[in-house]
Amino acid sequence: MTTSHVILGDGIAGSSAAETIREADPDAEITVITEEGEALYNRILIKEFAKGKLPEAPVSIHEPEWYDERDIDLRLNTHVTGVDTDEKVVRTHGGEDVGYDKLLVATGGTPTQLPVENADAEGIHHFWTFQDARAIREHAAEADRGVVIGAGLLGIDLAAICGAQDVDAKYLMRGNRWWRYALSLDGAEIIHRALEDIGVEPVFESGLDHFEVDESGHVDSVIDSNGDAHEAEFVGIAVGLNYNTEFLEDTPVELDDGIVVDQYMQTGVEDVYAAGDITKYHDVILEDQTQNGAWGSAKEQGIVAGKNMVADDTVKEFRYVPSYSITHFDFPFLSFGHPTIGDDEAERKYSDDEWRRLTFNNGKLVGGVLIGDLSQQSTFKKIIRQERPVADQKELLLEEDVELDALAPSPIE
Ligand SMILES: Cc1cc2nc3c(=O)[nH]c(=O)nc-3n(C[C@H](O)[C@H](O)[C@H](O)COP(=O)(O)OP(=O)(O)OC[C@H]3O[C@@H](n4cnc5c(N)ncnc54)[C@H](O)[C@@H]3O)c2cc1C
Repeated sequence: MTTSHVILGDGIAGSSAAETIREADPDAEITVITEEGEALYNRILIKEFAKGKLPEAPVSIHEPEWYDERDIDLRLNTHVTGVDTDEKVVRTHGGEDVGYDKLLVATGGTPTQLPVENADAEGIHHFWTFQDARAIREHAAEADRGVVIGAGLLGIDLAAICGAQDVDAKYLMRGNRWWRYALSLDGAEIIHRALEDIGVEPVFESGLDHFEVDESGHVDSVIDSNGDAHEAEFVGIAVGLNYNTEFLEDTPVELDDGIVVDQYMQTGVEDVYAAGDITKYHDVILEDQTQNGAWGSAKEQGIVAGKNMVADDTVKEFRYVPSYSITHFDFPFLSFGHPTIGDDEAERKYSDDEWRRLTFNNGKLVGGVLIGDLSQQSTFKKIIRQERPVADQKELLLEEDVELDALAPSPIE
């Protein structure tokens, strides 16, 4: 009997699942539904495109022919409005019902819009899609002054775009540093100096109060939380994601700021799976529910979901240490694992632009940030995967070269 797989979202999670299902089951019916007007592209590269450094072509990953060749029914420009998990149908904005045997939800998130005065003015950008990147590239190329809001991994992309496009920009941050949940001041200062080097001025203990607009409705200044005005015709905001789950609200699928799944990417509802940024998944290493927004883990979750959907059983679990790198500066930057959680930490500065921070939970390494020297990343990822109790061996872990053999033996080899 042919199984009908319907996948919502053609990001890296949805697309990897479709590919996995096709490889495992040549007879399956596969439908991929996306509200975007283009097939899978490399979301990681759209920042380089917006900087003006890359043409469009290398950003694209799949042309529609890729789906034709694999007999995958790709439906572009199709917004999913509802799911009936009893009848096993997906509803689209056009009123169409698409039936499924197995459903994968891989619809990711949408940037959060701050509910402040003039938030919808012209010239204010959020950044998630290739279409957003086209608008940002065009606007940044002609703008003289900008403001960036959101001191995290996506906000810094907007700051780097301003730097690359010669927009004289201020970067408003709450608190005294960039990504304060994962970096101490020592580490963040390396980033602050690098921002200044590309012409972006960090503004600390600040934040957004509201926007002021000119007579045409275009933003012309940002009023910060201290009442200070910053002139800007270009504004970039990255203050988090709202997960795209509205169409599941009338279903029994458990939602908790995302879709709750186990380590097999299964929801609590039979034949409904979820993968990618949208999941609140059971992490078998942390032994806890957690969330992660990174390309590599979204891809792996899509593969895990695809394998389990085809097998009709739990044949593969998600056991993965994610990482996320920043390549905007002269030095490399990598965060790995879960650097914003933990009950203990250790850090060291090695030179003006080399720094390391490690976080521990229940005695085990769970994440960290490396600036300047990434040579130890695979060692740290291995230690996390091995679930070694190493929190009492911080000195060894902060050595420039970590000797795995010098650490106390691992319970799992
Ligand atoms: C600018 C930028 C830079 C990034 N840089 C990095 C990086 O350097 N390293 C890294 O690891 N990660 C990076 N990321 C994060 C990474 O891109 C994401 O973690 C990853 O793309 C998530 O994939 P996904 O398939 O889960 O979701 P998405 O890629 O968000 O795909 C979800 C798809 O579902 C569609 N959809 C949503 N709702 C509906 C609906 N109701 N009906 C139909 N379709 C719907 C969406 O339009 C979208 O196409 C970056 C992200 C951005 C935006």
